[in-house]
Amino acid sequence: MKLILLGPPGAGKGTQARRLMDAHAIPQLSTGDMLRAAVSAGSPIGKMAKEVMDRGDLVSDDIIVGMIAERIDQPDCANGFILDGFPRSEPQAQALDTMLAERGLALDHVIEMKVDDEALVERLAGRYTCANCGAGYHDRFQIPAVSGVCDSCGGTEFKRRDDDNETTVRSRLQVYHDQTAPLLPYYRAKAVLRQVDGMADIDEVTVQINVVLKGGK
Ligand code: AMP
Repeated sequence: MKLILLGPPGAGKGTQARRLMDAHAIPQLSTGDMLRAAVSAGSPIGKMAKEVMDRGDLVSDDIIVGMIAERIDQPDCANGFILDGFPRSEPQAQALDTMLAERGLALDHVIEMKVDDEALVERLAGRYTCANCGAGYHDRFQIPAVSGVCDSCGGTEFKRRDDDNETTVRSRLQVYHDQTAPLLPYYRAKAVLRQVDGMADIDEVTVQINVVLKGGK
């Protein structure tokens, strides 16, 4: 299964991608995670990307497309993958089409996670993850059962993203509307686009996604 989760930052793409990854044994390919790993490693791509990410802008298509092309050729992608945060612009979507066609592959689903902008600012500004396993939490909406202890792995260290502050969040949302939202008509025209309600609670969104994957309405 080859799937794109499309939606603004904070729509819940990462959360749902992790659930799909566990349920379907296919990897989540998050260009944001790849870039953050490059920043942490201090690689040349990371050094270049850091400033762009802190502003909430998009890293250049060449770099992103190259990262994804390399990644989908890895053996763990043989049965499919979940794209999270890619493509983010029309040139990236076109590059993905070419990349898939060259490999004799095609997308099965593009799922739009629809959310209100103001809810996103609140969601992003309060979110954090377990530093050990990456499970997602939120100061108000998703608190660990035992304070300071990860529900999934028992880890006690948590981290927040540098770009989850209100100024950068607003830039990221603007970039989404300007550059990524045009992908909705792009995929609608290819008849692969389906929509779920990203404002619903996490389990309900998973249910809606599973309906789409099973080919239901
Ligand atoms: P994300 O984790 O998906 O919210 O991405 C965090 C940041 O990484 C974005 O604000 C961009 O600066 C950069 N980034 C992630 N994915 C892409 C992409 N497909 N194209 C360009 N920049 C990206």
